[in-house]
Amino acid sequence: MYNDPNTGLRGIIAIHDTTLGPSCGGTRMWPYESETDALADALRLSLAMTYKSAAAGLNLGGGKGVIIGDPRTQKSESLLRSWGRFVDTLGGRYLTTTDVGTNGRDLESIHQETRHVVGLDVTLGGSGDTSIMTGLGVYMGIKACAGDAWGSDSLRGRTIAMQGFGKVASHTAKHLLDEDARVIATDISEDALGKAKSMGVQVVGAEEIFDTPCDIFAPCALGGVINKDSIQRLSCRIVAGGANNQLATEADGEELQRRGITYAPDFLINAGGIINVSTEIGQPYNPDRARQQTERIYEQMSAVLTTSRNKEISTARAAELLAETRLADVRRVRGIFRG
Ligand code: NAD
Repeated sequence: MYNDPNTGLRGIIAIHDTTLGPSCGGTRMWPYESETDALADALRLSLAMTYKSAAAGLNLGGGKGVIIGDPRTQKSESLLRSWGRFVDTLGGRYLTTTDVGTNGRDLESIHQETRHVVGLDVTLGGSGDTSIMTGLGVYMGIKACAGDAWGSDSLRGRTIAMQGFGKVASHTAKHLLDEDARVIATDISEDALGKAKSMGVQVVGAEEIFDTPCDIFAPCALGGVINKDSIQRLSCRIVAGGANNQLATEADGEELQRRGITYAPDFLINAGGIINVSTEIGQPYNPDRARQQTERIYEQMSAVLTTSRNKEISTARAAELLAETRLADVRRVRGIFRG
């Protein structure tokens, strides 16, 4: 925990696990009501990063930073640079990047004070916009689910209903349309809807999307969208999209399974962004390498779906098991000291 009265910074860095490598996770800036809320969020999000990176096969641990404050009114260069100095004190045990409330420009200020930053703009030698690879990963994950559900991973003629048509969804849609899938989308932003239309995507109302008959429902906006109300309305075979924390509760995942709907665990299918930044660590960013590694989400997803079926557990639990198994495996190796 860090408190810098000179700049008004109050922040927390949570390091959950470094078995696989340095902890990595974005810096979130949010007007938390209390320090306790901020701490709980940092701990919860850092754990999620351990699972995400482990399941994606990355050599990264789980960490997260939170700054207490309103990003619209309380952000300043001095506050961000002070945060960079705090990150630097950990000597590389925590690598930071953007998250809710922080952007690429903020990262540049943080980078003035520490080199333990990933995801900088390509012009600064970083890996840049994460949503390109996240979009590709979501597409690969959707294909794996299709292969599992229908015996063929072709999406030609399949209907995908996307809730939210922002950065990730539009990149995913590009791949889907290239494969002659039918894409229907909704958004609350006129700009996003305009973009969808220009790509040949059919647009429906924000509420209508839940009742749209489709093969695949893709949550690509905010979390908690799969809940006891929305589940009643969905008429799809697969739920697979880029949003974080899609399930309102664990029970909602089980309810999807009971209804015969395959759920693609969010932290597995949306790992393209962290995969992208991981490829710039210790080497110059190579987009081909990032693409190749992101495409592996297909294999990981297929493995998780098979485990879920064989062990009769939810797909979310199967994805956690994949991460836990890898962590346990690597911990065994690290038991041997090597000078
Ligand atoms: P974005 O802001 O570009 O897109 C989100 C879109 O959802 C916006 O266009 C917004 O208008 C729309 N939206 C919000 N509420 C809505 C509602 N009720 N109904 C319909 N549309 C709504 O963000 P993004 O980067 O595309 O991220 C989308 C999701 O993917 C988020 O949950 C994010 O946490 C997750 N994610 C993103 C990345 C990444 O690399 N950008 C990586 C992993 C996970």
